[in-house]
Amino acid sequence: MTTIALAIHGGCGVLPLDSMSAEDWAEARQDLARALAAGWAELTEGGSAVAAVEAAVVVMEDSPHFNAGHGAALNEDGFHELDASIMDGATLEAGAVSAARGIRNPVRAARALMDDGRAVFLTGGAADDFAAGAGLEVMPQDYFTTQKRVEALAAMKAHAAAGTEATENEKHGTVGAVALDGAGHLAAATSTGGYTNKPAGRVGDSPVIGAGTYARDGVCAVSGTGKGEFFIRHVVGHEIAARIAYLKEDVRTAAEHVVHVDLSASSQTTGIVGAGLVALDASGQVSAPFNTAGMFRGWVTPEGRAFVATHEDIHEVQL
Ligand code: ASP
Repeated sequence: MTTIALAIHGGCGVLPLDSMSAEDWAEARQDLARALAAGWAELTEGGSAVAAVEAAVVVMEDSPHFNAGHGAALNEDGFHELDASIMDGATLEAGAVSAARGIRNPVRAARALMDDGRAVFLTGGAADDFAAGAGLEVMPQDYFTTQKRVEALAAMKAHAAAGTEATENEKHGTVGAVALDGAGHLAAATSTGGYTNKPAGRVGDSPVIGAGTYARDGVCAVSGTGKGEFFIRHVVGHEIAARIAYLKEDVRTAAEHVVHVDLSASSQTTGIVGAGLVALDASGQVSAPFNTAGMFRGWVTPEGRAFVATHEDIHEVQL
């Protein structure tokens, strides 16, 4: 049987256990499992890696538990500005949108743009207009807002006023997926609201091909989460692919080096750079390193066993 594989993340951060109720943690794990099920269904029914990562990310965008789509972070002006991208490792085709304000599922807009082919990257109102023209659902801003994000913005503003440092989980989060399909093709997709209280118009790494999202057949697919500015500076997705291609490292060694050595070196001069990612190689090996206390994540083994985790504990789930 040909190897198929899938891994997802729902963002990294400190994730203190007492920051959510036991029910909310269980619901978030359930939504990770639903995302895995959606992506896995594509792969087992002969769908492409691109279709699988899109399907998995859509489920997490629709969940209020993750910082993408419904439940996205609010910027300093109290608006949601959404970033997303998708990349097909078979062709190196890609699509990305940034600072979109109304696209219900930004990853679908990124996919539509990739399929359209006239541009790789659209931003702001042009991205929203493109999505509407492509027949995608466009929503009012309050569709994306949850009580938790309103409180997070108030907390961040209070930290800023008091000159204190917010915890990572008040700031960050993103969702993403990487997949290997039965034809041997890799794909990656990432979607985010950025971080709470971000400057208006700020674009993170998630829509930047090579930084937060990268896929290349025969090498790897990567989707990242964490301080986007550092993922852009270190060109994280492409850096992992380059280490595998040129240094002949395995995916785990390459991914862990970038998270625990390169990004940690930046931490020494700039303060902790919270970072995590999922990476998948052409043989279906998964790596999911993070340097924070936790990362929402999940993966399916080539035999079809599915696992989700937020901290150390790993839960097997039925798809
Ligand atoms: N990487 C995202 C960004 O910087 C945020 C995150 O993953 O926490 O926009």
